[in-house]
Amino acid sequence: MPELPEVEVTRRGVAPHLEGRVVTAVALRHSGLRWPFPNDLPERLCGHAIRHAGRRGKYLLIGFDHGTLVIHLGMSGHLRILPLATPAQKHDHFDLVVGKQLLRMTDPRRFGAVLWHGLEDGAIDNHLLLRGLGVEPLEGAFSGQVLYRHTRNRTAAIKQVLLAGDIVVGVGNIYASESLFKAGINPKTPAYRIGLARYEKLAQAIKETLAAAIEQGGSTLRDFIGVNGQSGYFQQSYFVYDRAGQACRVCSTMVRQIKQGQRSTFYCANCQK
Ligand SMILES: [Zn+2]
Repeated sequence: MPELPEVEVTRRGVAPHLEGRVVTAVALRHSGLRWPFPNDLPERLCGHAIRHAGRRGKYLLIGFDHGTLVIHLGMSGHLRILPLATPAQKHDHFDLVVGKQLLRMTDPRRFGAVLWHGLEDGAIDNHLLLRGLGVEPLEGAFSGQVLYRHTRNRTAAIKQVLLAGDIVVGVGNIYASESLFKAGINPKTPAYRIGLARYEKLAQAIKETLAAAIEQGGSTLRDFIGVNGQSGYFQQSYFVYDRAGQACRVCSTMVRQIKQGQRSTFYCANCQK
C-alpha cells in the first residue's frame, strides 16, 4: 500500500508535467473506484489550467481556479505520465490529458479515489476526507510538543495513536514501527505516559524516517515517465519492520512481531523501552 513517502514521490514526479498545463480531455473507463467517478468530470475540467499539484496526507490535490481534483491511490493505485497515444490496459481507469501527455491512474484493486471538490463547496481543507487529518509531519507545525499536547488523555498504545492520523498524518504502519525504534520507544507504551523529551525524539525520528524514504524514492522519479515504468514504490532496508526473528541491527536482540489493532508491529524489546 502506498504510504506518504510514495505519494509525495508521486507528486514530485507528476507535478512538473501538470502545473501550468490545460486539460484537453478526460477519460473515465470504469464507473468508478472506491466511489463513483463524478460523471461530469470531463465538462468540469476540459479547458481549465492546472495551477498546482499538492498533497495533504495521502491525498494528491490537483488544484484548478474553480476547484480541486482529489486523487487517492488506495491499496494498489499508481500514477504515470505517458505519451498521448499510449493504449490503455485493463486496470487503467482514469486519464487526465494535458496536450501531448496524459496522467494515467492504474488501480487493479480499485480502492483508490478520484473526486472533485468545487470552489463553491468551500475550502479544500474542510473536505470530508481531509478535515480530520492531523498536521503534516514534514512541515514546521509538527513537533514533539504537538505529540505531547495531544496525548495527555490518550490511553491507547503510542503505535496506534500514530496510525490514527488525527494528531500527525501519514505515519503509516512501516514508518510508525521504524520511527518508534529510532526514538527508543516501546510501541505498546500508552501515549499519555510518554514525556515531552521522548516525544521530541519521536517527532525528529518521524521527520528523518519519512524524509529518508522520500529521498530514496527520488531515485525512481524517472519511472513516472514512460510505459515501462514501475510504480515508483520502493523497498528500503528497515531497522525492525518486517524483520521478525532477525537480529536487531543495533543490539542483535531478536526483533519481535506483535499485533496491535489488526496490524503487525515490529520492535526490539532491548532498544525500545
Ligand atoms: Zn535492539
